[in-house]
Amino acid sequence: MSNPLHVVCPHCDAVNRIPSERLADGGRCGQCHRALFEGHPMTLTQARFERHAARSDIPLVVDFWAAWCGPCQMMAPAFEAAAARLEPRARLAKVDTEAEQGLAMRFGIRSIPTIAIFAGGQERARQPGAMDTNGIVRWVESQL
Ligand code: ZN
Repeated sequence: MSNPLHVVCPHCDAVNRIPSERLADGGRCGQCHRALFEGHPMTLTQARFERHAARSDIPLVVDFWAAWCGPCQMMAPAFEAAAARLEPRARLAKVDTEAEQGLAMRFGIRSIPTIAIFAGGQERARQPGAMDTNGIVRWVESQL
């Protein structure tokens, strides 16, 4: 028997407890009954970021981006594809630095795109600059 993992639902933000050996099966949220992992990055506001960063036992991989940023637009499909390959080992999410300037300021995001990994409520690593799908997957795997 392994310890249950806390997984925060990407739809309703409920905290689910999943046996770690069942994580690969995905599973559904006990509250809203939608899939806990769908292979797509989720969008985080500041309030949702706090909850997912603090309450989830799954590392959170955040793409800090903005609509006006060309390299961000180019990287978006690669980040999307990386989500399908990295979930459920990691949760991929996007933070719009224009809409959520408080988060961008708090973490001192100076250039975008920047990808950062959060675990246990703390930032573990960050990587500025656009990457392709393989680059994102390799970098995240090297940090897990
Ligand atoms: Zn839910």
